[in-house]
Amino acid sequence: MPVRPPSDVHHLLKAFEGRPAAVSASARDPVNLPMIRHWCEAMGDTHPAYTGEDAIAPPTMLQAWTMPGLSGGPGARTPAYEELFALLDGAGYTGVVATDCEQEYVRPLRPGDRPTFDTVIEAVSPRKTTRLGTGYFITTMMRVRVAGELVGTHRFRILKYAPATVPAPEPPREEPRPARPRPVINRDNAPFWAGVAEHKLLIQRCTACGTLRFPWLPGCGRCGSPEWGTVEACGSGTVHSYVVVHHPPFPAFDPPYAVVLVELAEGVRMISNITGVPHDAVRIGMSVELEFIRLDGGGELPVFRARADRPDGAES
Ligand code: ZN
Repeated sequence: MPVRPPSDVHHLLKAFEGRPAAVSASARDPVNLPMIRHWCEAMGDTHPAYTGEDAIAPPTMLQAWTMPGLSGGPGARTPAYEELFALLDGAGYTGVVATDCEQEYVRPLRPGDRPTFDTVIEAVSPRKTTRLGTGYFITTMMRVRVAGELVGTHRFRILKYAPATVPAPEPPREEPRPARPRPVINRDNAPFWAGVAEHKLLIQRCTACGTLRFPWLPGCGRCGSPEWGTVEACGSGTVHSYVVVHHPPFPAFDPPYAVVLVELAEGVRMISNITGVPHDAVRIGMSVELEFIRLDGGGELPVFRARADRPDGAES
């Protein structure tokens, strides 16, 4: 049954353009080293500019200083912004998703800076239909200042939408079991899969520094050289780690099953399946041996068989 979308309220929304979403709001905390440190650790950013006596804050932290937090507080919505949301929610556009942001950095923020900000509802789009549902893109523009001086801007866009109705599930039908996903073969890994077709497990070896690497990559992670050759793995390995997958269910697989990280005798590690052992008998340190299984519809896959001589992986 087709569902009628909520009525178009664009003419009402247009009136909000130019109205404030935050006025002379203050950051909850001054720019400070602990927040910078946590941010850098979370992002894995080790740039030296963000540590030490003359540290600056990473520019992309701009929004971290101005977010009001779950409990509201400074920087929370103005009555105009609340009204805009109430209008949209009331008209059935109850979903919200952030779509994109653009930031501009005028000067770096430093520990001790006390950012303030003003935000304006910059634009409301005409009604659009997306895969999520029908709704309106709302763009806000925040100007961040320190002691009155502009330090950066943050333009933020959300989609307020009426969630698309999910069609009722169809009655179950007897369908053939879906085929296992096929490997994605591309320019960088095609020689690996050509090796698999010949029942060879090829490891890349940097011709400049000799470092082995797996999975296949266009350059050496150690020295950066793009030149490489291959070494054929002897096929022996040990289970370095593993997980047992129960969820999410995927039609081509029968959970629970084990996914193993095998350390090959050559020293590189490879994620694979393990055969010849129940999922709950896989153990770290277990010896495994390379074998190839045939995929439905053609092609082969390198997997690892638990060695019969040490079925329980006992570290004797
Ligand atoms: Zn190298």
